[in-house]
Amino acid sequence: MLILICNVGSTSLKFKLYTMPDTHILCEAKIERVGSANGIYSFRNNLNGAEESREGLNIPGYSEGINLFLKDLVDSGKGAIRTIDQVDAIGFKTVIAKGYYGVHELSDEVIAAMEAYIKVAPAHNPPYIEAIRKFKEILPDKLFVGVFETAFHKTIPQERRMYSIPYEWYENYDIQRLGYHGASHGYISRQVEKRIGKQYKLISCHLGGSGSLCAVLDGKSVDSSFGFSPQTGIPHANRAGDIDANIIPFLLGQGLTVEEIFKGIDKNGGLLGISGVSNDLRDIEEAAAQGNERAKLAIDVYADSIIKYIGSFYAVLGGLDYLVFTGGIGENSSVIRQKICSRLTHLGVELDEAGNVEGPKERVISADTSKVKVCIIPTNEEEGIAQDIFHNYAV
Ligand code: ADP
Repeated sequence: MLILICNVGSTSLKFKLYTMPDTHILCEAKIERVGSANGIYSFRNNLNGAEESREGLNIPGYSEGINLFLKDLVDSGKGAIRTIDQVDAIGFKTVIAKGYYGVHELSDEVIAAMEAYIKVAPAHNPPYIEAIRKFKEILPDKLFVGVFETAFHKTIPQERRMYSIPYEWYENYDIQRLGYHGASHGYISRQVEKRIGKQYKLISCHLGGSGSLCAVLDGKSVDSSFGFSPQTGIPHANRAGDIDANIIPFLLGQGLTVEEIFKGIDKNGGLLGISGVSNDLRDIEEAAAQGNERAKLAIDVYADSIIKYIGSFYAVLGGLDYLVFTGGIGENSSVIRQKICSRLTHLGVELDEAGNVEGPKERVISADTSKVKVCIIPTNEEEGIAQDIFHNYAV
């Protein structure tokens, strides 16, 4: 089975063509600065090694970006396949749709349900909807599948999904904790399973521009730090994460507008909001090293929030075998990993200080004597999505 995965960013498109079930990548491409006359394009065919990169391209929208890639995909010289008919499904890492929380064919109804939840995922749903619609216009007869970021979390038990709000809100508006980053946590969980078999207690920490933790028991998600929306949980690069709901009416009473409040929570909050330096942890770590007190505070708040989630997930799981770090921060910041692990010794976490700082991208960073194995495993969301589609739609 051939599955083409499309990862949509607000100004970027990434493609990977997989053969399944072996998850071999036949070719991959990346388009940056979609929406500009200065686009960057790179393409690689892993079968014959053909590579290409171009800059300064006019890519006014997603259609132009998709067409650019599709042309090269079937090009007689550099292409990986002869015709687009060879592709069995086109998959997307979709975020949220009203009432569709698993792996779904992207019918008009499902796309409309994504539209209905734009307010729940304002940064994510609009670019996806636009890119999927354009893609479907270009290839109307193909199977399009959305692997929703909530899919891996469908196993979270009811008592942990419920907010303690009027029951009618749950019944009428489906307000519940859904969990996100499912493609990444699902991938990490399968990697751990490959190492120790089917029975394990895992806390997966996906720390990137958006961050979340997931408690996994024997391959199934049993808790997530994300709630109803992907705006919640630990602090994100520039989104606040969990806050007290009553802050909103209080600030309204102080004369701020709804727009100003949500700009603060969704754009000017998180690591950026506390540090005042940047939304990029690299800049914040540098400023902290030079003595910037707010940068130090941002790092402390971030690490503290993660430690608290790990503690609560430890209780939920009744122990811990594996603690995994992934995502841009999880994979690269030894400072954050050290700050977290040094406060978890009472749970049986013993960090290998040297291994934490240096080593191959994927590695164990706990001491041999550590009761909990601590690892860095680079995430691979596209592979996770391809696997989910293969398991649901194998032909
Ligand atoms: P996204 O969630 O947007 O996909 P990533 O998972 O790629 O993002 O994570 C991006 C973030 O990773 C950057 O904003 C930066 O804060 C962080 N990061 C990347 N490399 C490093 C590093 N060497 N040290 C600290 N933080 C890093």
